[in-house]
Amino acid sequence: MKTYIVGNWKLNFTVGEASIYLHKLLKKIPNYRDLEVVISPSLIALQSLSLQIDRHKMKLAAQNGFYRDYGAFTGEVSFSQLRGIVDYCIIGHSERRHIFGEDDKMIQKKVAAAMRNKITPILCIGETESERAFGETADVIRDQLIGGLSEVADDELEKVIIAYEPVWAISSTKAAKLASPDEIAEAMALIRKILAETYGEKIAEKVPILFGGSVNPSNAGGYLTVPGVNGLLIGGSSLILSEFADIIEVAKRVKS
Ligand code: PEP
Repeated sequence: MKTYIVGNWKLNFTVGEASIYLHKLLKKIPNYRDLEVVISPSLIALQSLSLQIDRHKMKLAAQNGFYRDYGAFTGEVSFSQLRGIVDYCIIGHSERRHIFGEDDKMIQKKVAAAMRNKITPILCIGETESERAFGETADVIRDQLIGGLSEVADDELEKVIIAYEPVWAISSTKAAKLASPDEIAEAMALIRKILAETYGEKIAEKVPILFGGSVNPSNAGGYLTVPGVNGLLIGGSSLILSEFADIIEVAKRVKS
């Protein structure tokens, strides 16, 4: 399985800044066969970056998309419009869930719409600090996983990526804490177990599971060696070109 390094830029960079970043990153990194490098800029930059990007070196992800392909949905952009521009879409990020009120019903429709349009969903799941404190972590993971994937057929599951991002470990969360290798390994094993119970072991083995939460160049290597981790989803550190490039280098070293 490939190793995935995904940079989520969130609401940062103008189109011009995004283009300069991409230009520099393309110059900095070679084409790594076993690494899938993905950047996820703001929607407004996607079209121009799709013309600039070298798809042998990296791919584009949208940060959001709407579940209907067209119609009277002012302000929305559909996966059918994103088709051909991006290869991936981040869906169910904790900021979409907690700031914009997206629930598992909406997220499952978005996952289905992405797949219908040949875009690989990166389904984000993860518990909040208080859910963990109340011992609800396993239930939250199960509910968000089963809920988000409920419209995905068995033979389509291998086209999905899961990102486990405990909300309390995300750097923009107040007083974010670093997740420990044991906490991550436990969550990875649980996710794989739920996938195996629902879809069968053979299919479950093929699903990449990423970790996200305050990843930077100095902890990336450690996180990538946690059992079950197939890649990283990176927010803050992906905004600094040298740090993102260093994480890519670390991933290459650790996984080869
Ligand atoms: C994220 O928000 O997806 C994320 C992982 O952010 P950070 O790396 O900044 O914690």
